[in-house]
Amino acid sequence: MNLKMYIDGKWVDSVSGETFDAISPATGEVVATLPKGNREDAKLAIAAANRAKDTIAKMPITDRVKLCHRIGETLEKHHDELARNLAEDQGKPFTAEAKGEAEFVVHLWHRAAEDVLRMDTDVIVSEMPQKRIFTFRQPKGVIAAISPWNFPLVIPCEYHAAAIATGNAVVWNPASTTSVVAVTMTRCFEEAGMPSGVFNLITGPGSVVGDELVANEGTHAIGFTGSAEVGHIIAQRGAGKPMMLELGGNGPTIIHHDAVLEKAIPSTAIGCFINAGQVCCATERILVHEKVHDQVVEMMVAEANARVLGASMDNGVTLGPLNNEDTAQKMDEHIADAVAKGAKVLAGGGRAEGKPTAQYYQATVLDAVRPDMLVAQEESFGPIAPFITYSTIEEALEISNNDPMGLVAAVFTRDIKTAFAFTEGLQTGIVNVNDATTHWECHIPFGGVAGKKSGIGRIGGRYTMEMLTDLRTMILDLDNC
Ligand code: NAP
Ligand code: MG
Repeated sequence: MNLKMYIDGKWVDSVSGETFDAISPATGEVVATLPKGNREDAKLAIAAANRAKDTIAKMPITDRVKLCHRIGETLEKHHDELARNLAEDQGKPFTAEAKGEAEFVVHLWHRAAEDVLRMDTDVIVSEMPQKRIFTFRQPKGVIAAISPWNFPLVIPCEYHAAAIATGNAVVWNPASTTSVVAVTMTRCFEEAGMPSGVFNLITGPGSVVGDELVANEGTHAIGFTGSAEVGHIIAQRGAGKPMMLELGGNGPTIIHHDAVLEKAIPSTAIGCFINAGQVCCATERILVHEKVHDQVVEMMVAEANARVLGASMDNGVTLGPLNNEDTAQKMDEHIADAVAKGAKVLAGGGRAEGKPTAQYYQATVLDAVRPDMLVAQEESFGPIAPFITYSTIEEALEISNNDPMGLVAAVFTRDIKTAFAFTEGLQTGIVNVNDATTHWECHIPFGGVAGKKSGIGRIGGRYTMEMLTDLRTMILDLDNC
């Protein structure tokens, strides 16, 4: 299957004629061949978006709302194809997870259509009797969207839906390893009636295509979700442009001695193992109070052993392969380092044998983890539950906050004072109380805390819309009207 990319309302190859293969992490087979976009392709898309940006900016808001709803309906119509692509391309289990992401993205577009209608702005009292001050939100122009491979439908659409709803044009460079599903989704946008040039898709390496989108003067704001390393390159290459950088996490979960364990452990297991742990807000470290340690760890081992590791399209599978070899190698490295420093493997611990690719990773439980181990210091991005034991709230806070990322945390406790002590003491942008780090809703502000490396800005519903629009202030002098 030879796929194409989408520029100015047309399906095209790269000007270079070069292509790359999409390989399924589940089977190792080539799923499709895609254009390997380059800087010239990116420039063509940026030019098309600039020609088209007034079309979307001047479209009545009610029509943009209808367009967003139609996109939601079209994505729903193609739900099964999107979910299948997602399972084949990304690796997540079709029934247990891919279908859910394909449903969620439908909701996200409908929700954007509703949120944009509530983007009220202020009328500000002037200090002069004859003046009136109004503020309006105006689209920024052309948005460069660059997205990762872990949630290849939902994450890019956090930018796309907010951008289109508020009247911006978009040029999108999806992650290379999930480009097939990006093509299917763009076809849905076309079918829903996206005006030519308003939305453009360039497949190909982020270090080339993404870099051009970031640095080119023809893009007016950047929406990037991905690693901290690339985020920091983008901050430099796009210096001066408005940007949202949604980067990595190393989320701690604290299970206090008074937690409802029947809720805390299954939820935390979801936080560790959903999407095979490839989630920015995954539960990356579990801090367990010494009084409940033994019981909690035993329950987590049962949770890990209950995961069914297998090919994404197979029935009953709840844990798919990792998306790429780099992620599997990082898991190998983190487990080896932890074991060498004294951690104990209580479940899993490595790649599964006898699978079609080497990217099938077992649900792993590590005990006796210490804060200085790599698994505790860095984002592991795999199916792993590493346990660190603590005895006081102060100690738990100190360990939790010894984290370069500062994105998200969770705490399980029945005591409201303890809930506040953690919520106010944890240095993260989000704290879930009595649910997993991964509990997320598309309209709530999501992002990291200042002074750490998890990014800039808040993504989610109207917060994204605020970032992708400029506030225009009108100062009206009535004396001269
Ligand atoms: P990544 O390596 O940073 O890649 C993200 C995207 O950036 C890909 O599309 C990639 O293209 C592109 N890219 C690579 N180099 C670039 C450059 N120099 N300029 C512009 N674009 C470039 O991240 P990933 O491995 O795909 O995703 C995993 C990371 O994303 C994790 O750290 C995770 O925590 C983070 N994440 C954060 C959030 C959040 O909301 N905070 C959500 C999800 C994931 P190629 O694929 O072609 O390399
Ligand atoms: Mg980690």
